[in-house]
Amino acid sequence: MLSSGGHDDFNQGQVSCRRPGSAEFFIKGALTGFDEAAPADFVVGHADPSAPLDRLAPPEIPLHQAVYEARPDVNCVVHSHSPAALVFGALQEDLVPLSHEGALLCNDVYRFTLTSNTILDISVGRAIAETLGEGLGVFLVNHGSVVVGKSVRHAVIIALMLERACRLQLDALASGRDFATSTELDVAAKREFIFADLSIRAYWEHARRRVLRTFPDARNW
Ligand SMILES: [Zn+2]
Repeated sequence: MLSSGGHDDFNQGQVSCRRPGSAEFFIKGALTGFDEAAPADFVVGHADPSAPLDRLAPPEIPLHQAVYEARPDVNCVVHSHSPAALVFGALQEDLVPLSHEGALLCNDVYRFTLTSNTILDISVGRAIAETLGEGLGVFLVNHGSVVVGKSVRHAVIIALMLERACRLQLDALASGRDFATSTELDVAAKREFIFADLSIRAYWEHARRRVLRTFPDARNW
């Protein structure tokens, strides 16, 4: 799904998830990309950064550990280097409610600027978690983005929406023209209806059907 949504960057980027309240989580292994990772390519990670690591754990696992440590409500973390979010994150621009996705994400995605390097230690992971706060995501400036959700469905769909929101706003900015944005009233209404749990489930099911058309082997998972 993330691959279909433009999140591929060779084998880089990760998605992880945990059962609510669990100290362990599953994370895509270091060697596979979003476009090829199957359930067998996931490894177990531990929220405790001092716990021993699986030999195939991705180097950026401290990012996931730090987010799970800071956010008991989060059960899925997506980190990718998707192009539109990366470019948008590098601009001095706030996400605005230009599209439906922008209405969900405006004011809930922050910028992390401490380092643009790969997240290799828990102190940097914790600094990102601090930037995230109670939000939905973080632009890792000159690196990529992080999106969180209470479920795999939520985090993955929001990650797809972040990429689309950034691409649409970049297109609008590239036009050099003024553009309209939704009113505060519309933003509140959209958040309640377009992004209700039932709607997220419908988007997930649609995206899942598309994945099954592209990757028929996934029917056997
Ligand atoms: Zn990265």
